[in-house]
Amino acid sequence: MIKRASGLLLLLLLLPALGRAEWLSDQASVMGTRINVELWHEDRALGELAIATVIDEFKRLDEKLSPYKTDSELTLVNRMAAEVAVDISSELFHLLQESHNYAKLTQGAFDITFASIGHQYDYRTGKKPNQQSTRQALPLIDYRHIRLDAKTQTVRFLRKGVQIDLGGIAKGYAVDRGIALLRERAIEHALISAGGDSRLIGDHRGRPWHIGIQAPRKKAAMAAVLPLADTAISTSGDYERYFEADGVRYHHIISPKTGHSAKNVQSVTILGPNATRTDALSTSIFVLGAEAGMALIDSLDDVEAVIIDRDGQMLTSAGLDSFH
Ligand code: ADP
Ligand code: MG
Repeated sequence: MIKRASGLLLLLLLLPALGRAEWLSDQASVMGTRINVELWHEDRALGELAIATVIDEFKRLDEKLSPYKTDSELTLVNRMAAEVAVDISSELFHLLQESHNYAKLTQGAFDITFASIGHQYDYRTGKKPNQQSTRQALPLIDYRHIRLDAKTQTVRFLRKGVQIDLGGIAKGYAVDRGIALLRERAIEHALISAGGDSRLIGDHRGRPWHIGIQAPRKKAAMAAVLPLADTAISTSGDYERYFEADGVRYHHIISPKTGHSAKNVQSVTILGPNATRTDALSTSIFVLGAEAGMALIDSLDDVEAVIIDRDGQMLTSAGLDSFH
């Protein structure tokens, strides 16, 4: 009798050490944005390891895809591809192919060659290109200047001066990579977000996750809160990286046609099956504007949209109510 009781006591004392199921989370600053990973795990140490693995994956992708790091693979492409066909990793090749597909789908609204103008901005210091340099760079913005060769896995720019930037798709891709790493570890409840790009595994243990859509013109206020599970969601807004000069709002989403910041809407939120898709489409629909953008979303059966138009009115796609 005494023996059994002490055995039980010992077991109770050991339980915390064996690990308790609980919510765990961590944040980091990578890819110029805030990364947040939150998950439920039966074992605290394994859960924390899983979170660290996701954050390391973001760092790996930042080293590879940043246009600002002098030794990234993307910088090598920007430096060399107008001269020679550059041999690239299958991962970068895949992302360039995806970017090409979104450029075609959106009739050029999504275009990673926006960079020849985009890179002339500095939103923190208020630096912007003048009319002449915008005019000179505009003909360089065209995804058809990028030649991808699947056989040799090379990329070539057909014009001198073309520059690319994956800022409209890389964070979504990184979120998807992080989700894949969590799935490999059999994690059933998790959220990864990178700035405006998020993806959820499962629900919040019996309740949905609640994901807010920022009110574009009110700091820290929500325009809507969506109950969600098992989905990706991305928001592109004109309020994150911007400055104002002479009454004009200069922000980080560039219309490839005009070379200026797209100004038809205040924010676009896309829900869909993965964050690469929702990221690319949120940037694209922002450029396309409310009418053409909503028409595209309604023509695709795996995505929904919440658009806050230039007057601050909220518009939702046809299937949003039944989206889960
Ligand atoms: P963020 O989460 O960084 O706010 P968004 O998904 O809203 O990103 O996309 C904005 C980013 O996309 C810009 O910072 C830039 O790197 C890139 N970008 C801007 N204009 C375009 C465009 N027309 N096509 C593709 N990418 C773009
Ligand atoms: Mg995007």
